Amino acid sequence: MSLLVVGSVAYDAIETPFGKVDRTLGGAATYSAVAASHFTRVHLVGVVGDDFHAADKAVLTSRKIDVAGLERAAGKCFFWSGSYSADLTQRTTLATDLNVFAEFRPKLPEHYRDSPYVFLANIDPTLQRDVLQQARRKPKLVTLDTMNYWIERTPAELRETLRHTSVLMINDSETRQLSSEINLLRAARHIFKLGPRTLVIKRGEHGAMMVHGRHAFCVPAFPLECVHDPTGAGDSFAGGFMGYLAGCGRATPEHLKRAMVYGTVMGSFAVERFGLDRLKRVTRREIDARARHFSRITQFTL
Ligand code: AMP
Repeated sequence: MSLLVVGSVAYDAIETPFGKVDRTLGGAATYSAVAASHFTRVHLVGVVGDDFHAADKAVLTSRKIDVAGLERAAGKCFFWSGSYSADLTQRTTLATDLNVFAEFRPKLPEHYRDSPYVFLANIDPTLQRDVLQQARRKPKLVTLDTMNYWIERTPAELRETLRHTSVLMINDSETRQLSSEINLLRAARHIFKLGPRTLVIKRGEHGAMMVHGRHAFCVPAFPLECVHDPTGAGDSFAGGFMGYLAGCGRATPEHLKRAMVYGTVMGSFAVERFGLDRLKRVTRREIDARARHFSRITQFTL
């Protein structure tokens, strides 16, 4: 089944201890869409400026991502710049130039309006809701990402959008901030009262935890010897998670657990190289092999 992805399409400038890139294709929706495209048909909604290169559009279309909903506006693309500490655990944002993204109003092409699976990457919660209102019928599964900026500045709008969300996918500090609970399981109970049935907490190098009803499921991060650029890890996780579910067309508790594994696997490929370099080239064979390896290294008997 198809997956609708909405969010930022950007140019990123990234500096890590392993190198530097000045202007590479990035954005939350880009990472998610490319990761998900390995599992299912993706419809992308976003905005780019008139400086968007044909070669970058080709990165998307070569992955068979539908770009009918990628609007081109007068002005420059969203630009984000960040640098990482020596151990890669701390990120400093150096610039966030919204440019054409400031006026972004998502418009769903006619053939996007029946998408059964929807991933709302981190944007203004009012725009996220606007996307859902343009759907012709209720999607089977809506996953939402957000950040501290929206939790602090637009709490009422975020709460309203959460009422229409099935899975909330955020990091641990955002979970604590949104719920005013320190304990993550208690935080999940609080968040379930706001609408979502499932909470996925992304914890970077510590893996991810899913709480679904009364059940918790935890995965470690995939152990890698070479991490060059953590940018987009969370969005690639989301793309792998949602792409896998949309590809199966089912979201039972067992499918959700496997989606956590495919999310982890796609996040691990994303961080091996700068920008989208690894994610766009990885094959389905390599993805499945890494998922099988992950299954072996996380099994134990008692
Ligand atoms: P992540 O490392 O998963 O947090 O994702 C980083 C990506 O998100 C980069 O490619 C950025 O272009 C994009 N990004 C950074 N800040 C924002 C923002 N405020 N809104 C939307 N996308 C953003």
